[in-house]
Amino acid sequence: MVHTPVFLLLLARRGRGGIGMRIYGPYTRKDGRQHIILYENGKRKTISYPKYLLEQKLGRSLLPNETCDHIDGDFTNNCLDNLQVLSRGDNAAKAMALKPAEQGYFVCPECHKSFYKAMRDVRSNQIKQKKAGPFCSKKCSGKYGQRQNKTFRGGKPNPRYTGDMPE
Ligand SMILES: [Zn+2]
Repeated sequence: MVHTPVFLLLLARRGRGGIGMRIYGPYTRKDGRQHIILYENGKRKTISYPKYLLEQKLGRSLLPNETCDHIDGDFTNNCLDNLQVLSRGDNAAKAMALKPAEQGYFVCPECHKSFYKAMRDVRSNQIKQKKAGPFCSKKCSGKYGQRQNKTFRGGKPNPRYTGDMPE
């Protein structure tokens, strides 16, 4: 059933285009996203419903580098309070943060166990470690570090050095 909220009809009456503009929708796609169809001076345009709502709220069109962001991450929640303007860059950064971390498959250089680890942690880990790693655990990372220090630390025997590499 097609249902046009009173809110939209009011917007249409005083919105851009004014008389001669007709709005149909919102229609919901299979993926849950909504759009409206706008007839303006005989031209038919399909517009993202949340983007349209946000533009009406702002009283202006979005700029080319602006996007309509769903604050809670739910793109089916087109409540006005859930919509905000984000630059394209900020929106991409937010998408990255919300995305499940990309997992990498590694073999620990210390104990040779295989394990998964988030790639974003690995990069920072490897910067800290200079080149070694990633390791399966802090313990392995520590052991490896000790061996790198060999038996001496600051010219004195390293008491934390526990022995040679296993196997
Ligand atoms: Zn390990």
